[in-house]
Amino acid sequence: MTFEQLNLITPIIEALKHEEYSTPTPIQAQAIPKILEGNDLIGCAQTGTGKTAAFSIPIIQKLTENSESRKHKAIKALIITPTRELAIQIGESFTAYGRFTSLKHAVIFGGVSQVPQVNLIRSGVDILIATPGRLLDLYNQGFIKVPSLDFFVLDEADRMLDMGFIHDIKRILQIIPSKRQTLLFSATMPPEIQKLANSMLYKPLKVEV
Ligand code: AMP
Repeated sequence: MTFEQLNLITPIIEALKHEEYSTPTPIQAQAIPKILEGNDLIGCAQTGTGKTAAFSIPIIQKLTENSESRKHKAIKALIITPTRELAIQIGESFTAYGRFTSLKHAVIFGGVSQVPQVNLIRSGVDILIATPGRLLDLYNQGFIKVPSLDFFVLDEADRMLDMGFIHDIKRILQIIPSKRQTLLFSATMPPEIQKLANSMLYKPLKVEV
């Protein structure tokens, strides 16, 4: 399996060459076509399997192709992750795989000044990567609006629940549009995650590695 066989657009193929990735990892080979086809997806995968690229590559591809919807300068993809470190890593992935596109992203997390984060969002971003608390904080202050959303990603869902973020996640689900493509990644699938998945995904396909 090659990245070319996944029907990726040239700017992404070139970015992957730049990263010196030769072949997709198993989660990438399985998840990328399903996400490109527009399905909701549950991905059972640990950190280190290449799961970040498995969701960021198809998001970059679909947002690049759908440039019409980007004219509105609104957030088109929202990615929620439990920690600042993960948020920064996901931001670095979008920088790397999107380097030959014009997509813009912002990474927001708590424990630091909100001013630069707010300024970045105000300047217009396509993709927002956030920890739950800071997202709700900026939303409650009116700095973030999500009138429409192409993608919603919940990363490391099991860790999110372990860290006590369930109420924040439920609140986030209330403030985002219900019409969207949703992707949920989790290393484990305990009943609480299955229940959460049932409440937020539409006919999801499942990928396990
Ligand atoms: P992740 O599981 O998303 O945290 O990714 C783990 C690491 O694997 C990251 O450092 C990526 O840069 C790297 N990686 C992801 N996909 C590939 C690939 N197809 N080939 C080589 N390295 C990769």
